[in-house]
Amino acid sequence: MYGLSLGETDDEEDFSADSGWIPWFCALKGHELFAEVEEEYVRDNFNLYGLRQRFQFYEHALEMILSSEAPEDDDLADSEFLEIYRDASDLYGLIHARYIVSPRGLQAMREKYLKGVFGTCPRVLCDRQHTLPMGLSEELRAAQVKIFCPKCEQVGPGGTCSV
Ligand SMILES: [Zn+2]
Repeated sequence: MYGLSLGETDDEEDFSADSGWIPWFCALKGHELFAEVEEEYVRDNFNLYGLRQRFQFYEHALEMILSSEAPEDDDLADSEFLEIYRDASDLYGLIHARYIVSPRGLQAMREKYLKGVFGTCPRVLCDRQHTLPMGLSEELRAAQVKIFCPKCEQVGPGGTCSV
């Protein structure tokens, strides 16, 4: 029977791990600081406590975040989609802020740090010491993320230390 055989993997499923909204969002330029929050974490209402009332399109935004497909060009030209997308980005930012202080999230951020994803310190004496992001705050569109160098213990503006 077509489509009923168990154990056969179909191509779409193989791709879904890497093609959902979250991996797409985290791969956007300027989103290097974002770790991919696990779907399981996003689906746990406990982790989302208190966020609902901050969004006009909460349900749709959450649905978008959990979507297994990345937006297409058509979507990104659609004003209705973009309204929800704005909420989804902000909601993801808030969920992310909580996620990265959870054990799994800390581990994800540590891996990014070790890879130097957050950039390196511009000071010569620090010899390209990998830096850490600071101030990934819960406040929407709050002050820009700062970068902290564990070697010289200086805090600098984010985004300028890389390469
Ligand atoms: Zn430094």
